[in-house]
Amino acid sequence: MAKEYDLVILGGGTGGYVAAIRAAQLGIKTAVVEKGKLGGTCLHAGCIPSKALLRSAEVYAQTKESEKFGVFVNDVKLDFVKVQERKGKIVEQLHKGVQHLMKKGKIDVYEGTGRILGPSIFSPMPGTISVELNNGGENEMLVPKNVIIATGSRPRTLPGLDIDGEYVITSDEALQLEKLPASIIIVGGGVIGIEWASMLNDFGVEVTVLEYADRILPTEDRDVSKEVEKLLKQRGINIVTNAKVLPETLEKRNGVTIKAEHKGEQKAFTAEKMLVSVGRQANIEGIGLENTDIIVEKGFIQTNEFYQTKESHIYAIGDVIGGLQLAHVASHEGIVAVEHIAGQNPSPIDYTMISKCVYSRPEVASVGLTEEEAKEKGYKVKVGKFPFKAIGKALVFGEADGFVKIVADEETNDLLGVHMVGPHVTDMISEAGLARVLDATPWEVAHTIHPHPTLSEAMAEAALAVDGKAIHF
Ligand SMILES: Cc1cc2nc3c(=O)[nH]c(=O)nc-3n(C[C@H](O)[C@H](O)[C@H](O)COP(=O)(O)OP(=O)(O)OC[C@H]3O[C@@H](n4cnc5c(N)ncnc54)[C@H](O)[C@@H]3O)c2cc1C
Repeated sequence: MAKEYDLVILGGGTGGYVAAIRAAQLGIKTAVVEKGKLGGTCLHAGCIPSKALLRSAEVYAQTKESEKFGVFVNDVKLDFVKVQERKGKIVEQLHKGVQHLMKKGKIDVYEGTGRILGPSIFSPMPGTISVELNNGGENEMLVPKNVIIATGSRPRTLPGLDIDGEYVITSDEALQLEKLPASIIIVGGGVIGIEWASMLNDFGVEVTVLEYADRILPTEDRDVSKEVEKLLKQRGINIVTNAKVLPETLEKRNGVTIKAEHKGEQKAFTAEKMLVSVGRQANIEGIGLENTDIIVEKGFIQTNEFYQTKESHIYAIGDVIGGLQLAHVASHEGIVAVEHIAGQNPSPIDYTMISKCVYSRPEVASVGLTEEEAKEKGYKVKVGKFPFKAIGKALVFGEADGFVKIVADEETNDLLGVHMVGPHVTDMISEAGLARVLDATPWEVAHTIHPHPTLSEAMAEAALAVDGKAIHF
């Protein structure tokens, strides 16, 4: 029997479940269809499990260096089974939390694979959702007034580089490793590749990163890429930029060997495993897009600024529409879409206000334009940069690498971008985000009196440095 809803959300990942909660708050009768687990990639194969492993790696690496703090620990050992157990517990706790939130919001959750149908006896418009239930029961037929597609993404690979799950893996398999390899080649030095490089190196794995671009973290400010590369190399990570991996040269025999073209020469790299982290592709297959007029370009669903597709009652949010594939972006897109459905006239998201983070050691965080982007856009820029080595709290922490860099407009004094490398910068970046949202000038940031000693003083000092007025450097 068909069931009627105001809204059905296809996919219960970060985008989908947050949209459902907002809809419930607005009194919209909502259902979520999820074929895997509520929480999606972020909770089960992304943000949370990777950060749990990164934290264990950091504790291990720091404990080995504890003598620097005058603390002597004998016989530091790593038990990777326990590391994985800890990760699993955190994920499970949060998973239960999301399930509870669905119940609290009286949101119906269908465990199964949803597919959009074309015009049918249920509705003259495309959008009825047929759900093939995971428990093998008879398909459910959901008839909603509106639909949000939030089916997310999955790892991409290079043509010819097949993921076998044993020698050649993606972050999906890496998160489930039962045993650490002795060595690994990471293809791709973007956010995911660099987080894994940093983590595995801290766990004692020999790491080689092969990056096609001329620098790692190519979407970050150039100074940031340079600093992270320098610091990771100091820790013994082999980073090769301008490296074009040649999938056809892959050999698998008790490990992997692959060649990459580097500076006009072919070089071979060998390791126990290879992790491919070259981006993520949208989950657009098998969801019935062919039954609609929805437009897909370069593999991503196209929408307007309120996330309406060509079918104005069908919205799409999160990784499936491309752009910044981040959890906080997916959830905010979900909120905007729901508020638009509710006729609340939400403001479109300004993507230049969104903070991006990398949870390597040291961490990286940024918001707004890089120096290069600002110049390309024709701004006359002034730059303030302040190193953590001149910040007391960073020295106390024993983590004084990195800096805060502020890019400002020389003519208007606008804060165009903030770029950070260093301890806990992923927690510090929100001050920069707020400053941009409130249109604060570097002067206003600097005149917010920052408590001493804190890492956040680096932000205030960098703001002073924009006009050559930094105090401690
Ligand atoms: C290793 C890794 C680390 C990451 N770390 C971070 C981080 O630190 N911070 C950050 O902001 N982002 C991070 N991300 C990115 C983040 O996970 C994604 O941006 C986010 O999960 C996108 O949310 P979403 O709701 O669009 O999609 P997803 O979370 O992928 O959810 C989509 C859901 O839809 C379901 N689904 C798909 N098709 C159907 C169907 N036909 N019927 C029913 N259900 C369906 C899937 O099972 C899935 O649960 C990371 C990603 C990875 C891979």
